[in-house]
Amino acid sequence: MTPDPAQPGTVYLVGAGPGDPELLTLKAARLIAAADVVVYDALVSPAIMAMVNPAAERIYAGKERGKHALPQDDINLLLVRLAKAGKRVVRLKGGDPFVFGRGGEEVETLAENDVPVEVVPGITAAAGVAAYAGIPLTHRRCAQACVFVTGHLKDGSMNLDWPGLARRQQTVVIYMGLHGLPTLCAKLIEHGLPSDWPAAIVQRGTTPQQRTVTGTLTTLPQLAEAAHLKAPTLIIVGEVVRLRKKLAWFREADAAH
Ligand code: SAH
Repeated sequence: MTPDPAQPGTVYLVGAGPGDPELLTLKAARLIAAADVVVYDALVSPAIMAMVNPAAERIYAGKERGKHALPQDDINLLLVRLAKAGKRVVRLKGGDPFVFGRGGEEVETLAENDVPVEVVPGITAAAGVAAYAGIPLTHRRCAQACVFVTGHLKDGSMNLDWPGLARRQQTVVIYMGLHGLPTLCAKLIEHGLPSDWPAAIVQRGTTPQQRTVTGTLTTLPQLAEAAHLKAPTLIIVGEVVRLRKKLAWFREADAAH
């Protein structure tokens, strides 16, 4: 049985996963091969863009740090316009569309304009990157909870629930945290985590450019700077980071441990 093709006039909000094209869902792969137009973000890897229907129009929507190709409102309205013109529209986003992806805002605008929409989940960076770095996000011995937060700096500071984050028996995963790493580590120590608490930062996880740097809340900011890591990077804080020594399986470009 051949699966239904994508419907004209519909927007598919599709998660592309963290980079490795093998981590796309079957549904995502089918939709990008059938799309008339693909509106994609900076995080979508070239290997995945190579799987897009060669006849499809490709529209780059940003956003790298400091470079917004299209403001969010314009992206929302562009999707409405393309769908109303009868296109099969794939809105392709890194990771999962509903995890720090502003997918909710896009669906809101589409719903307000009576545009049919389907959401296709993707493997979020936390899940994909942790797996390829050999860091289980929870582990009976060291973490019963896992929290995802954004480390994006607003006016140079990070406004997070520090007492809630600085807990033992918990893993904290920080998206968009590279520039805020020194602040993050200092705040976690200030709110009670030990200064030698394990922490890791992973560059471009699940891709051939994956590199992992591990250290402690005290050492990681310097180690990360010395390693000249490039975005996107994911930070993982917690005792589970220690397990990487035993569990790392993915061969990295540059063996930084
Ligand atoms: N919707 C995405 C997250 C978008 S926010 C998801 O579910 O994964 C962008 C942030 O995601 C980046 O700043 C980085 O922290 C993280 N990220 C995405 N892909 C990554 C990758 N391959 N390696 C490391 N971090 C990644």
